[in-house]
Amino acid sequence: MKQLQEKILTEGRVLSESVLKVDSFLNHQIDPVLMEAIGEEFASRFAGNGITKILTIESSGIAPAMMTGLKMGIKPVFARKSQSLTLTDNLYTASVHSFTKNVTSDISVSKDFLNKDDVVLILDDFLANGQAVLGLLDIIEQAGASLAGVGIVIEKGFQPGGKEIRDRGIRVETLANIRTMENGKAEFFEEEFIR
Ligand code: 5GP
Repeated sequence: MKQLQEKILTEGRVLSESVLKVDSFLNHQIDPVLMEAIGEEFASRFAGNGITKILTIESSGIAPAMMTGLKMGIKPVFARKSQSLTLTDNLYTASVHSFTKNVTSDISVSKDFLNKDDVVLILDDFLANGQAVLGLLDIIEQAGASLAGVGIVIEKGFQPGGKEIRDRGIRVETLANIRTMENGKAEFFEEEFIR
């Protein structure tokens, strides 16, 4: 997605060879015009798949999931990272190791909002080692729901998550796939290479 690639090049900051900061439009301040375009893109890529639920993780997945939900007419649900949930009997829970924070924490989704009849689209802001997506897959399995695919705003294709998830036969759609950040600047794979 050209518009997103340009935004990453002009406003993204490469903090190290593996960490990209996009606080000005995705992870802290949010660009609603770009989010709308992202929502339209995911909606068109996953149209006709019978999707009934969008599943993401708080907090950075919520903005793209919300706009995609609006365009598809589907309610997004976000897995919560909150520790204060004490009633665990009505929750699906999974462990996720955070790439950026280097801690493992539990995520949870209420059984009220995901069940075996759902066809789920997983959405997230970044794909790095795949831990966040694997945690969401675990929750979908617990619910007995089906998976339509995974939508990622920014994939770092030089890290192993994308390959691991695609190797399971899961469809992964990425809007900007970074080949390298070795020179302090993001370089992208060509779109035809990814899809
Ligand atoms: P994974 O679970 O695939 O290893 O990492 C995905 C999660 O880590 C995303 O939900 C995102 O919040 C965070 N993340 C991974 N890499 C980056 C990065 O380079 N920049 C930012 N801002 N977040 C990242």
